[in-house]
Amino acid sequence: MGHVSFHGTNPACTAFGLFGPRGSFSHTPMPFSKFSVLRAFARKIGNFMPRRRVTNIHYYAAEDDDDDDDDDDTLVPPSTTVSLHRHVTYSINIDTDRTSVRTTFYEAPSSPKRPRLSLAESPTCATPSDGADFHASEPLDLEYICNRLEDIEADLQPRRRTAGDRPLLEWIPKADQFLSELLRLEGRGDFTSIDCPTCAGGIPTYRCMDCHDAALYCKECTVTHHIWNPLHRIQYWTGTHFRRVTLKALGLRIQLGHAVGVQCANPQQAFGNDFVVLDVCGIHEVSVDFCACELALPHTIQLLRFRWYPATSVNPKTAATFALLEHFHLLSVQSKISGFEFYLSLARRTDNTGVSPPKDRYHSFMLMVHEWRHLKMMKRAGRGNDPGELHSTLPSEDTDTWLLAVKGWEDDSSCPNPFEIKRSTLSQAAIRLQLAEEDAEALRTGKATILHEDFTASSMIVVGLELEEHQRRLKVDAAALGQHATDLQRAKLIERQNTLQRKIDAWREHVPLLLPSAVCNKIPCDTSLLEQEWRLRHAQAHDVLNDLRGHLELRSHLYKYKDRFVRGQHHNTRARTIITGVQSKVDADVSRYRTAQAALVSMAAILGKSGWQAALWPLNDGDVRHVTEGEDGESEGRRTLSWIWKACGAVVECDKDGRVQEHLQDSLRREWCKARARAYRWWEECKLLEEEMRRVLAFHVWMAQRWRGLLDRQVFTSPGYMEGANAYAHRQAEIRLEMHNKCTFAWRHVQEWLSLQDSAPPFTQD
Ligand SMILES: [Zn+2]
Ligand SMILES: [Zn+2]
Ligand SMILES: [Zn+2]
Repeated sequence: MGHVSFHGTNPACTAFGLFGPRGSFSHTPMPFSKFSVLRAFARKIGNFMPRRRVTNIHYYAAEDDDDDDDDDDTLVPPSTTVSLHRHVTYSINIDTDRTSVRTTFYEAPSSPKRPRLSLAESPTCATPSDGADFHASEPLDLEYICNRLEDIEADLQPRRRTAGDRPLLEWIPKADQFLSELLRLEGRGDFTSIDCPTCAGGIPTYRCMDCHDAALYCKECTVTHHIWNPLHRIQYWTGTHFRRVTLKALGLRIQLGHAVGVQCANPQQAFGNDFVVLDVCGIHEVSVDFCACELALPHTIQLLRFRWYPATSVNPKTAATFALLEHFHLLSVQSKISGFEFYLSLARRTDNTGVSPPKDRYHSFMLMVHEWRHLKMMKRAGRGNDPGELHSTLPSEDTDTWLLAVKGWEDDSSCPNPFEIKRSTLSQAAIRLQLAEEDAEALRTGKATILHEDFTASSMIVVGLELEEHQRRLKVDAAALGQHATDLQRAKLIERQNTLQRKIDAWREHVPLLLPSAVCNKIPCDTSLLEQEWRLRHAQAHDVLNDLRGHLELRSHLYKYKDRFVRGQHHNTRARTIITGVQSKVDADVSRYRTAQAALVSMAAILGKSGWQAALWPLNDGDVRHVTEGEDGESEGRRTLSWIWKACGAVVECDKDGRVQEHLQDSLRREWCKARARAYRWWEECKLLEEEMRRVLAFHVWMAQRWRGLLDRQVFTSPGYMEGANAYAHRQAEIRLEMHNKCTFAWRHVQEWLSLQDSAPPFTQD
């Protein structure tokens, strides 16, 4: 009475089993019932890839009752309902040595099918009718399964190769022919007539590279044809080959301020007649005439109405087409292209030889992009439809509190510093203060260890630790100098070396610092000295861990920031430099920690310290990672935390055994709590999903209403502006409703899928 087990709620994980070699099923002692899950997947796969898949799939039929569990070989058409089942209880009868399992069944709808591949749907493979015609609402796991199956099957089933599998091989014999066609286009092709095809009077010597017309026309006809396309690129037939020529040179003038083709009564040539327009096809010099009639609008407005964006708001001599700005905006967002690289390609599109480069308008271009993005943002936020709208949002309570804290600190620096992260471990500075106080007390009572006439023992150790830090930094900086360091850089380093040497000389004569921890295992050492260094080292180790965590936080933030926001060569280089700086700090922290930890290890045995290692482990390279980073090869959800994040702020009292135990217990408890929290988050994720989907739908509806509410706001007096603003609001409302409908359709089964999960959260008492 065994059942195939189906753990968890994701049907994807069991589906792979179906496509293993047949033998993998038959040799299994456990018979199968309830194979409909797999059947459902098989059916789907059959739908997706009818060309290659159907014959390879075996459907296993089995009754649900316990008597009938063999004969799993029968081929039956798949059923339309999908039922999933999972185990609830296991029990083993010791006498009979039999296992019994009680299984609970759930009904689930089938996943949506892939619309574009469902052409060969057979009548037996009925799927729930979709009714609507959305095209892109496929859950990712299905896509993934299909790809996986394709891989698996390609390995299992050798198949005759078809021509379609090797498109390059197909193409190679035709390459020469293709090349000839490319070359043919360098000449006039079929259009060698001596008369212009439109006017029949002129000599056809001009051809447009951007019109879908390879015919040649005379000069006048070319100009006439391009009144509506003034930014096309024209070629001139010299008699032997084509040469680039501008429409400006042919005499095309672009009249702004009137409908295209209407002659202005008082045209005013653009200042200097060297107007430049940047367009998707390149950088064009054009002849522009502004309108200077009685009711003429400002030049910038005339340009904007022509869908050209002016580079300056006074006497513009450069503009970019709206199409170009949109194109670049999308490219930069989707492909991280930098403005400079984009501009270079545009310039090359205009002239790829470098013989006559277009005028440099890079800075104007970047300025226009900057303004364009800002305008787009305002438009999308509804600023144009309701100027008051943007100011009506209030800062959150948190922001208010933080603001108050910052302001309070700025006014009075004795207030708590809001930029400082609160640390729970005693810092090195705090320990130093404590030791100084204790020294004062010892001196007063005459119990002090006298090492030097000017220094107490503890202050010598403090200075020793400082010198150690100096040495370390010098070493790092010297390593970073590199081959091409300037004389000044070298000089500075040597000066610092000298300063350190003087400090060391003033303290002791030997360069090795010989702090108590370094010598305690070779020569007898005063315990009180060791104890003092122990306390400083212990605090130092915790300090360094704090610094390390801070620097890792920063590094992680910088990486994310760089990925998301940094565009362009200049900014990328800067971001990389900053990250390198932080990385060197991380490296220094690691080295400092290792020194402190090694010192602690060497002193621990003599001082009889134990338990401190619960919070101060040896730091391996693999431990140096951010809290969100797992070790290599770890997946989300199974990720382990580096120990450095677990030891946060743990003050380890290691004198008494009881305290140590307590501490270990403590960290275990904390780990358990974290594991539980993680499990909860996964469970919660499903709950949140429902709520998120509800909110997304509600948000789309709300946005649609909001845009409708922005209709007829009387922001503008002129009807043209009013109609435009209303049209934009209508369009946005429509987009929101379409998004709402699309989401509703795409998520139509999610509710049922979610009902498969456990209703109770994990780790609860039964
Ligand atoms: Zn003509
Ligand atoms: Zn054209
Ligand atoms: Zn005019």
